[in-house]
Amino acid sequence: MKILVAVKRVVDPNVKIRVKADGSGVELGGLKMAINPFDEIAVEEAVRLKEAGRAREIVAVTVGTAQAHDVLRTAMAIGVDRGLLVQAEGPLEPLAVAKVLARVIAEEAPDLVLLGKQAVDDDCNQTGQMLAALLDWPQATFASKITVVGDMVEVTREVDSGLQTLEMELPAIVTVDLRLNEPRYASLPSIMQAKRKPLQTRPVTDLGIDVAPRLRVLKTAEPAARAAGIRLNSVEELLHKLKHEAGVL
Ligand code: AMP
Repeated sequence: MKILVAVKRVVDPNVKIRVKADGSGVELGGLKMAINPFDEIAVEEAVRLKEAGRAREIVAVTVGTAQAHDVLRTAMAIGVDRGLLVQAEGPLEPLAVAKVLARVIAEEAPDLVLLGKQAVDDDCNQTGQMLAALLDWPQATFASKITVVGDMVEVTREVDSGLQTLEMELPAIVTVDLRLNEPRYASLPSIMQAKRKPLQTRPVTDLGIDVAPRLRVLKTAEPAARAAGIRLNSVEELLHKLKHEAGVL
C-alpha cells in the first residue's frame, strides 16, 4: 500500500500571534513556523502503518512557498520516504489545495490519503472533505483509530454521541484527530538522514489549475479582552449573582 500525507506549514501553535496594524491579517514576519500538529499525527500514523508492514511507501505533499521545504524535512525525519512541494506564492484556500492534491493523487495513485482534520491557522476543516468530493472517494473524518485490513480500512471517529466505526474500501481519504497517536520526536540521526531523502519541487502554475481565491478577508481583529474572573464562596452566592447581577436565571 502507498500512503500520501498532506502537510501544511503553519505558525507554531506555541507562539503568540499579533494582528497586523491595518487589520488585513496576522503578522507572520519572523515567527517560528511548524508542521500543522494534526498533520504531524497523520505522518506518525503513516509511519506506524509502514512499520507494521501495511505500507511500502509514504509520500508527503505540501502546497506553499519555498520555505515549506522545512515541513517536508520534518515529515521525512519522522519516517516519510519522499516529499513533494507544490510551490505557490501565497497561501491557497482549501478548495485550491484540494484541487492541487487531487491532481497529485491522480499521478501518484496512493491507496490511502491522510490529512489533518484541520489546519490550526485557518481552522477551516474543509480540505479533506473537498478532496474526497473531487475524487469521489470514500472519506472518514476525525479518525481516532485506523486499521487497514486487506483492501479495506476501518476508522473509528469521534462524534457527539461517542465513537463511530466506519469501514471503507481503499482508496480512501482519512482526516485525523488529536487522540489517534502521539507523534515521536525525530532523533538526530533521522533528521540527518532526512536531508538525503528525495524532495521534488513543482510550481503550482505548471499544473494548470485555477487556484484564484474565492474569499475576501474584510477584517482581522483580536478577540475582545476578557474581564478577570472572581472566586465565590458558595453555590448560594453563585445563584444569587446569576439571578440578580447576570440576569440569566
Ligand atoms: P483545513 O481544511 O485548511 O483546515 O486543512 C485540513 C488539512 O488539509 C490540513 O490538516 C492538511 O492536512 C491539509 N492541508 C491544508 N492546506 C494544506 C496545504 N497548503 N498543503 C498541504 N496540505 C494542506
